[in-house]
Amino acid sequence: MLIPFQTNESGPACWLLGLVLLLLLIALVILFFYQRYIASKKAVHHLCDYCGHMVTAVSDCHHAMVRERFLHGVCMECKKECKLVCARCKRPL
Ligand SMILES: [Zn+2]
Ligand SMILES: [Zn+2]
Repeated sequence: MLIPFQTNESGPACWLLGLVLLLLLIALVILFFYQRYIASKKAVHHLCDYCGHMVTAVSDCHHAMVRERFLHGVCMECKKECKLVCARCKRPL
């Protein structure tokens, strides 16, 4: 009599704990991707030494959009590695 009562009591509690942990995990994942999204948005702007503006980076080969990496980027036009240049004056960033 005592054992089924205990399992009935601990069952919903475990389920609830699991649900709370799952929700926390989902919240963390959302926060992680949100921060990455914000970081990727922020990284698009660079301070150009030549024209002194906050500018977006473009590729040196096609002056096209770049997927930015550390100190270089991948040109969205030709999908090759390229240097980042200022979108305004086309000088290296
Ligand atoms: Zn510039
Ligand atoms: Zn290119």
